[in-house]
Formats: sequence, structure tokens, C-alpha cells
Amino acid sequence: MRPLILVTPSLAPAGVEMPDPSISLANAYLEAVLEAGGLPLTLPVSTDPGVATDALAQAAGLLLTGGEDIEPRLHRPEVTDTLRSLCFLDDPSRDTMELELIREAFRRRLPVFALCRGHQLVNVALGGTLYVDLPSEAPGTVEHNQVQRRFEAVHPVDIEPDSRMAASVGATTLGVNSTHHQAVREPAPGLRAVARAADGIIEALEWDNATAPGNGWFLSVQFHPERLAPTQPEHARLFAAFVEACRQRTQ
Ligand code: MN
Repeated sequence: MRPLILVTPSLAPAGVEMPDPSISLANAYLEAVLEAGGLPLTLPVSTDPGVATDALAQAAGLLLTGGEDIEPRLHRPEVTDTLRSLCFLDDPSRDTMELELIREAFRRRLPVFALCRGHQLVNVALGGTLYVDLPSEAPGTVEHNQVQRRFEAVHPVDIEPDSRMAASVGATTLGVNSTHHQAVREPAPGLRAVARAADGIIEALEWDNATAPGNGWFLSVQFHPERLAPTQPEHARLFAAFVEACRQRTQ
């Protein structure tokens, strides 16, 4: 039986059924999980913590998807209004719900795969910080916001050889797409940067087995492997490793 994997949606002002408020989720996430042998299901955006608890009690894993920016006051209370104004904020209820899902998934030691916004939010949930806007706060870095080329590898990342990510991909370099203007600044305690762009920007996080041993399967990446998985096997292998961890969890 396919392991049930929860996939987080965003709230959208309008959807297919008249202009009613709707949830929104790129189909590529679901296809990538399906192709890897999982059963993807999404859930309502609810700020009731009981929803996260009950949903994860019935799931084998959690996939945190991309989206708009995280409220910067959550990780940098001193953020200036000028810097904050450069954000395109997601609905605050999505931040609340996903933070609860992250806490509960880690408490249960469920496999967690976190992409782009999800990568940043796990870092925030565990006490790390973000660059609120790379062009403002880290000028001279690689162009990380290449939305027009989101289905292409636009910059390489170097992967730590002894990481879960390197084992999953089967290589220590990987070409990635890049549609972000924020990034992890200080990794949270217990997390380890396992991939970086040429400019040093962190592109993936895992548990640091030296300081946070005994946790479940966790990988977060700053890019969008779901967009590349259909054409690039290295990216599909990240989903395969995640779904395999979920399958083992159900046995
Ligand atoms: Mn990037």
C-alpha cells in the first residue's frame, strides 16, 4: 500500500469553483510523490492545532511545499519596516498551521521533506533566521530569483559527501532551479547545512547527527525538485528517498 503523505497547500483568493476562496497546490508536488510510490493528500489551512495533530496521526510523512514569504517578525523581531516591505507574505494562517505541523511531525519523528518556503520555515520553527531579502542583505550573491527559468537548473550546489542528501542524489554536485529572494541565514540549533551555492548561500539542511542524534528522516532544500523530477532523475531520487522513508515508517 502507498504510504499516505500530507502535502501542505496555500490559501488563494479564488479558485476554479466561481471566485470563492480556495486552497492552491501545484500539481507537480502530487505527481512527484505519486511517481515515487506515495499517496499524496492535502489538507485544509487551519489554525486549530488539533488539525495538525490529527492529520499527522494518520500520515506516514509530511511534504512542506513552496509559496510566498514567511512573516519575518517570526524570526527577526527587529526587522525594519523597509526590509519587511520587500516581502510577499503568505496568509498568516498558513505560517501558523505549518509551524504546528512541523512541531508535531518532528515530535512523532515522521519523515519530513521541505521545499523552498518549507525549507525556510523548518529553520524558523527550530530557532534559526533567514535573509529577508538577498539583494538587500547579501548583495553580490548568485541570482537566486530566476522565476522565468523555474523548470531549468540555473546554478549548481555543492553537497556534503557524508550527507543524506548526497546519498539520495548519488552525487556531490547538483544543478538546481532557483526562485527565491530569501534564504537561510543562521541554521537552527540541531541542523546542518549540507548543500551550498557557489556564493555560500545554504541550499539544503538536515539534522546534525553530532548535536541532534536520533531524529527521523529530514531533508530540506531551497530549490524545487518537483519541477525538475520529470526530466532529471537526480531530482526524482530525492522524492524516492523520502517516500521510501515513509514506507518504512508504515511497516
Ligand atoms: Mn538558489
